[in-house]
Amino acid sequence: MSEKKSRTALYPGTFDPITNGHIDIIKRASALFDTVIVGVAHNRQKQPLFSVSERMEMIRHCIEDIDNAVVDQFGGLLVDYAVEKNVNAVIRGLRAVSDFEYEMQMALVNRKLNDSLVTVFMMPHENYSYLNSSIVRELAIYGGKIDFFVPKYVKHKLLEKLQSNESTG
Ligand code: ADP
Repeated sequence: MSEKKSRTALYPGTFDPITNGHIDIIKRASALFDTVIVGVAHNRQKQPLFSVSERMEMIRHCIEDIDNAVVDQFGGLLVDYAVEKNVNAVIRGLRAVSDFEYEMQMALVNRKLNDSLVTVFMMPHENYSYLNSSIVRELAIYGGKIDFFVPKYVKHKLLEKLQSNESTG
């Protein structure tokens, strides 16, 4: 039998900041693939709260127990980065039906650009199916409890960032 090829998945996103929903998906993907690259996108359309390096640092901290997951960043087209890294599959999380339309469009466009790139959709635990980074940021701004949504470390970084933004006006 021929030697088994190593399988690499790319989980791209903004991760502003990483939440327990993202971590849930990373864990599921890491059980299926040899390597999971969590790719922080330089997103021109969004004005992120955290810089790319801050987001990467938080992700690195949150995935340190997952041996086959690594973090990286990319600009430009996802398909170009995927080819550069020999990625076999792009992982996307599907929370609710509302995610479907956008995700299907992205997956089909990416497939049009590169036919060999497969998009794999994964469902998080139902506890996280209503969760996204912007809700977490909003809650944090107004003093809501976010302990259930993000790891302690991320909560700490979020509160620290909001405080420093407040003091700089
Ligand atoms: P984007 O800017 O691409 O929406 P995000 O960082 O918000 O990036 O999300 C990256 C991926 O993670 C997307 O596929 C998104 O659907 C998924 N995702 C976000 N939050 C959750 C969650 N709570 N559970 C599962 N998947 C999620």
